[in-house]
Amino acid sequence: MKEFDIRPQELFDRFLRIVEEDNKTFFRDRSRFRELACPACRSKKIDTAFQKNGFRYSQCIKCGCLYLNPRPPAALYRRYYQNSKTSRFWAEKFYPAVEDKRRRNLYRPKARRVQKLLARVGSLVDIGSGYGTFLEELQRTGTAKKYYGIEPSTHLAECSRKKGFDIFETTVETYARHPKIKFDAAVSLELFEHVVNPFKFMSSVNAILKKNGTLILTTLQADGFDIKLLGPYSKSISPPIHINFFTERSFQHLWRRTGFEIQKVFTPGVLDVDIVRNTSLQYHLSHDPFIEQIIFDETLSKSFQRFLSNHRLSSHIWIVAKKIREISL
Ligand SMILES: [Zn+2]
Repeated sequence: MKEFDIRPQELFDRFLRIVEEDNKTFFRDRSRFRELACPACRSKKIDTAFQKNGFRYSQCIKCGCLYLNPRPPAALYRRYYQNSKTSRFWAEKFYPAVEDKRRRNLYRPKARRVQKLLARVGSLVDIGSGYGTFLEELQRTGTAKKYYGIEPSTHLAECSRKKGFDIFETTVETYARHPKIKFDAAVSLELFEHVVNPFKFMSSVNAILKKNGTLILTTLQADGFDIKLLGPYSKSISPPIHINFFTERSFQHLWRRTGFEIQKVFTPGVLDVDIVRNTSLQYHLSHDPFIEQIIFDETLSKSFQRFLSNHRLSSHIWIVAKKIREISL
């Protein structure tokens, strides 16, 4: 798989331009933005990592967490995700154009991996189930007896219902206040980087799982090669959409605070070197000559990508955690 298989350059760059346009309308007034301590370990010892498109990212000195700071309020994000051109473009243009490739290259292998990790469970919920594509792929593996989704968008929830899934049309934070059902397992794919309040999100996931329930979460991590090397040039760092880039240490802090125990961490990503190469060419970036020698050599770059994945240094991280205690919301 290559970067442009899942995010074709022209289309993705168009998407990023729309994000920038929306920023000027939705996020112009900064008076309600709030400065945050580290959302993972709560440390106030933070540095400015960089600015991008008028937004600042801070980095926690203690745990390495990279995060948008100051941060817009949750209500503004709700409005943004419901009404922005960005959301419409993603749902109507970008996603339909890449759905087949994403299904084959991302969701299908992910579903097989989830199946191996969970074996067989009674009930499983996909938090942020979108179009239900991942649920469909998961269903093919026979991982669970019953599949559910939590999805706040009416349009997307409807798409998934047509595929036969039970969808709770809300956010996990709202569902967790009075959960109708508690689940044996939850998956959350590529959602965590968007979450406005990571502590509240994880506390809510705790509340919807049964005791000893399993969470499988995938997201982008700050210790990943392409994110670390490219910094503000990384297309994954797209304010104000992608706002949390935790490290493994950050997750350990947050998990401890929210009643989870980490069982497995791995980074099976295969795109870091390809992304660094493409982005460096597009923006004429130069790196240390030793790094350039590796990323522009086909044999070396393949082997280096394997090294990154094996040593948990790829940007795409998987975390498997078990709920070990109840916490109060
Ligand atoms: Zn921290």
